Amino acid sequence: MKVLVINCGSSSLKYQVLDMTNEVLECKGLVERIGMDGSVITHEKIGMDKFKLETPMENHKDAIGHVLDAIQDPEHGVVKEMSEIGAVGHRVVHAGEKYAHSVLINDDVIAALEECVDLAPLHNPPNLLGIAACQELMPGTPMVGVFDTAFHQTMPPESYIYAIPYEYYEKHGIRRYGFHGTSHKYVAERASDMLNVNLDDLKIITCHLGNGASVSAIKRGKCIDTSMGFTPLEGLVMGTRSGDIDPAIVTYIREKEHLDQGVANEILNKKSGVLGISGVSSDFRDIEAAAAEGNERALLALKVFAHKVRFYIGAYIAEMNGVDAIVFTAGVGENDISMRDIICNDLGNLGIKLDLVKNKVRGKEMIISRDDSRVKILLIPTNEELMIARDTYNIVTGKAVN
Ligand code: ADP
Repeated sequence: MKVLVINCGSSSLKYQVLDMTNEVLECKGLVERIGMDGSVITHEKIGMDKFKLETPMENHKDAIGHVLDAIQDPEHGVVKEMSEIGAVGHRVVHAGEKYAHSVLINDDVIAALEECVDLAPLHNPPNLLGIAACQELMPGTPMVGVFDTAFHQTMPPESYIYAIPYEYYEKHGIRRYGFHGTSHKYVAERASDMLNVNLDDLKIITCHLGNGASVSAIKRGKCIDTSMGFTPLEGLVMGTRSGDIDPAIVTYIREKEHLDQGVANEILNKKSGVLGISGVSSDFRDIEAAAAEGNERALLALKVFAHKVRFYIGAYIAEMNGVDAIVFTAGVGENDISMRDIICNDLGNLGIKLDLVKNKVRGKEMIISRDDSRVKILLIPTNEELMIARDTYNIVTGKAVN
C-alpha cells in the first residue's frame, strides 16, 4: 500500500509518498507561499531531477490539488490514479490530552482537534485545513492523524504539572505537553534496533537538536519527561527561542522596554536563543564560523546551548536512575560534530565517553561512543514522515499502534 504523508503549515506544505510494503520513499515535495504571490511547488521523484512549478495557489485545497497532480504526473508521478494511495497520514501538532497515539480521523477526531486550536493557534488550524482539503479531494480515502504531543502523554503528573494554581490546569489545560514526539519515538525505536536490545530494557535520552530543540527521557519505551512544555518555547536554548527563563523577566522587560504582550512573545520566540545571544544568526554553521573568527558572543551562544543540553541530560539521568543510550538527532544533532563533542565532554564519571574519531560523521546512523563507554551514544537521522506513514499503514490495516 502507498501512503501519502502531509505536513501542513500556515503557508507551506511538505509531502511524501511511501510504499509501505517495503517502506520505500517514492517521491517528496514542498509547496511554499500558499495564499501569497509566487506560490510554488517543488516535487522530486526519487532518482529524478526536481521540478518546480510556480502557479497561483489561493489556499490549502489548491495546494493539495497540485500535490495530487504532481504525484499522478505521467513523468514525475508515482501513481497512475489516486486509488493507488491507500491512506493519508497527517502530521498534527497538538492533540492536548485527548490522544496518546495516532488515530483514524473521523468527525469526533476533527472536533477534538478543533478544541485544541487555542493550545496551538499557529499550527492546528493549517493542519486541520490540510485534512479538510484531502477529505474533499480524496473522498473515501482513510486519513490518520499523527500528533506531536501523543508520545509524551505517558509522562507522570509530577513531570507535567506546573507549580501554579491547580485550577489553571483544570480550567485551561495548562500543563507540559511536549512536542517533537514523533521524532523522539522514532529515534528511540531505532536505537533499540541498533543496540539489539528491547525497548523495555532501555533507558534512553533523546536529544532532538534542530532549529527547535527538545530532550526526552524515555524509560522502557515510554516518555517520562521532556523539555518542551505548554508550548515549544520551554526547555533548551533554540535557534531563536529562549527556552527556560525566569518568568519574572518577561514582566520586567515589558516594563523597561515598554513592550506590549505580542512584542514580548515575538522576542522570546523569534529573537532569542542562540540568535539573541550571538547577534549573528540562528544557524549553528554561521555561529561556529563567527566563533572561529574570535566573536566572543558567538562562542558564548554555543556554550550556553551546550550547557542547557547537558543540564537536561543530567536531570534525566537522575529521573531514570541511569541511562543506557543517548541519541542525537535533527539538524544540529545529526550534523554538528563540534557541538556533540562539547555536549559530551567530561562526562566520563557518568559512563558517557564520546569517540572523537567516530564522532566525525554527519547525517548517518552510527554508534559514536567509545567501546569502553558504558552509555552508548548514537547518531540517528530522524524520519518523522516514515513514522507517520508507519502509524497510518498500521491503523488502516488494523494493526495495533502504541
Ligand atoms: P527544524 O526542522 O527545527 O527547522 P532542522 O532539524 O532542520 O530544524 O535543523 C536546522 C538547523 O540545523 C540549522 O538551523 C543549523 O543550525 C543546523 N545545521 C544543519 N547542518 C549543520 C551543520 N553541518 N553544522 C552545524 N549545524 C547544522
